[in-house]
Amino acid sequence: MAKEIPYKIYLEESEMPKAWYNVRADMKKKPAPLLNPENHKPCTAEELEKVFCKELVAQELNETDAYIEIPEEIRNFYKMYRPAPLVRAYCLEKKLGTPAHIYYKFEGNNTSGSHKLNSAIAQAYYAKKQGLKGVTTETGAGQWGTALSMASSYFGLDCVVYMVKCSYEQKPFRREVIRTYGANVTPSPSMNTEVGRRINAEFPGTNGSLGCAISEAVEHAMTHEGYRYVLGSVLNQVLLHQSVIGLETKAALDKYGVKADIIIGCAGGGSNLGGLISPFAGEMLRGEADYKIIAVEPASCPSLTRGVYAYDYCDTGKVCPLQKMYTLGSGFMPSASHAGGLRYHGMSSIVSELYDQGLMEARSVEQTSVFQAAEDFARIEGILPAPESSHAIRVAIDEAMKCKETGEAKNIVFGLTGTGYFDMYAYKAFNDGEMSDYIPSDEEIKKATDMIPRFPGNEF
Ligand SMILES: *Cc1c(COP(=O)(O)O)cnc(C)c1O
Repeated sequence: MAKEIPYKIYLEESEMPKAWYNVRADMKKKPAPLLNPENHKPCTAEELEKVFCKELVAQELNETDAYIEIPEEIRNFYKMYRPAPLVRAYCLEKKLGTPAHIYYKFEGNNTSGSHKLNSAIAQAYYAKKQGLKGVTTETGAGQWGTALSMASSYFGLDCVVYMVKCSYEQKPFRREVIRTYGANVTPSPSMNTEVGRRINAEFPGTNGSLGCAISEAVEHAMTHEGYRYVLGSVLNQVLLHQSVIGLETKAALDKYGVKADIIIGCAGGGSNLGGLISPFAGEMLRGEADYKIIAVEPASCPSLTRGVYAYDYCDTGKVCPLQKMYTLGSGFMPSASHAGGLRYHGMSSIVSELYDQGLMEARSVEQTSVFQAAEDFARIEGILPAPESSHAIRVAIDEAMKCKETGEAKNIVFGLTGTGYFDMYAYKAFNDGEMSDYIPSDEEIKKATDMIPRFPGNEF
């Protein structure tokens, strides 16, 4: 007889993964390498080590080892807030009247409020191990900055955060959490860096953007001895660290003999989605199992569904390596009315390549329907979800309602990446009926994608 499935499946600490899973090892066609923006040749480890920590560069370039051991210090830190529960959404199923079985992996059980701590602690660990003084980074909504400040304080590293100016002003509480953990927060664009001064001169009064804050954080690291830059998403190493989400999810499902049919994740830079799906995509790549994987993105920043697959800049200042990815162009700015997060113009190269190979589908959703799903979920399942996470909730509910029509009892698994306590202005706009949907026109997208650099080998 099948075991009765509890509301929450918790693994034992002893069942937590001891190694991260590197999906690139099982990909026949690998994601394209990072290119040096000056000569368009693949970046060497030496070049990358000027910006990033040495061990993380090795992970970034490693496409052969399927498993990479998680150092014991990181595993011990993980134990402070992991294993994360895999929740069976019995209450939601009942409310929807669906025969589908819905599960969500909840990553919001830590002070930073999201999955980002999984990679922050790994990156801080390797920086410390290298004997560095500190790390620099950017943060948009603030979750990554919070996670990195927590990880840095744990290892006694200095942490310098460039926070997108509009978030700095609109999210003072997030900013104060970061400062409470000892990090130094500067609104971006600032006057601290050359690129910040240039952007301020060119666009006076600008609210900043993620791409601009990245450029400032990179410049800060390059111009300060003993500092390196770290990034909270997009990179291969970040997806590697986030594979802990998927490995735990798979272990929990296996424990109860449950085979997922549909796996859903929200996609900003692709790290939670990539981490959640990695072990499942690995099975697909090895021909062992089949899953329907769905990436969900905002209709206002639709890189997978309406972008092009090409080499592009990762940042506005064009100081980072070129990455091949689904992109809207580094000059693309999501509308100011967009409150739902996930506003990065590009996408992880691993997620991009898996999508291009047809291993997953992508769907874009409008923000009012995302907040409607968020509110329904909060009222039924109790958790106040982050707007980003709610993109996945939206599609999980849509898929469960399709099952209601067809009578199929599919197993739907989605990633609930975090909580939304610091997003109450967005919830307020929704509650006041003042939230609007914005979908960029084809002309707007063409204008931004036309700015993507063209060079031999980068036809799109
Ligand atoms: C940062 C963030 C995301 C999006 O980032 P990915 O790298 O695409 O995972 C999603 N949810 C939450 C709660 C986040 O903080």
